[in-house]
Amino acid sequence: MRLANVNDQLMVARGGGGFVDVASASTGRFGPDPQSVYERWEEFLDWAGSEVETLDAGRELDPETLGAPVPRPRQVFAVALNYALHAAEGGAKPPSAPQVFTKFPTCLSGPRTEVALATDQVDWEAELVAVIGRRAEHVSREHAWDHVAGVMAGQDVSARDVQRVGSTPQYSLGKSFPGFGPTGPWLVSRDEFGDEDARLECLVNGETMQDASTAEMIFPVAVLIEYISAITPMLPGDVIFTGTPSGVGSHRTPPRYLVDGDEVVTRIERIGELSQTFRAR
Ligand code: ZN
Repeated sequence: MRLANVNDQLMVARGGGGFVDVASASTGRFGPDPQSVYERWEEFLDWAGSEVETLDAGRELDPETLGAPVPRPRQVFAVALNYALHAAEGGAKPPSAPQVFTKFPTCLSGPRTEVALATDQVDWEAELVAVIGRRAEHVSREHAWDHVAGVMAGQDVSARDVQRVGSTPQYSLGKSFPGFGPTGPWLVSRDEFGDEDARLECLVNGETMQDASTAEMIFPVAVLIEYISAITPMLPGDVIFTGTPSGVGSHRTPPRYLVDGDEVVTRIERIGELSQTFRAR
């Protein structure tokens, strides 16, 4: 199942089929708000499993019209240095525990956007984003995926100069300018995404910058949920940016930052792709 957001209306598709409007298909039982479905995720899964297949074929969605599949999470978790080669390219050792920060929720956007270059050191980070579908509090890694509604592609856009102000990393602010959290193109439910590792890529103007597998995460999604949920309850509709692999611009020689007109494509196998065009302020 895939869940998309068109004009703040929740849309659902089964497998490779077209999308139907959830509020009308369920005669008002669910929707239209794309965010509220996660509070009733089990109930929604039951309905979708029993009803959606019997509906008339849905329609294809114009990618330009898509909003953030999860538009207003209460908490946005993000993880630094979760791929060994990315830690190494920055001269860091692999961390002994997840390095967690937040992206403030106002930075989230849909899959096709223009993003204002907030500074002259804006960089890319392709990431798998997991979405919580059932409250997680002190959840073991063995049961962690039972609390996940699904996954999306995400781009953790980062202003490196803001991130590096002062003596401790200012990840949360440097990565939270408007438009710095593109997600989508839709949420792919956990059952449809499956258990296999997925390839993730980031291309800038068609040139491959990042190409890795989610298998390379130092702390896999289940371990991140175990670690975070032992400290902070994770709520339905919360999202987790799970970290980026090597190949970011700031660790190239010389460093490469985004400039006016650059197009960044973020692609994850079995999910889909995002496309951002960056514009000078
Ligand atoms: Zn990141």
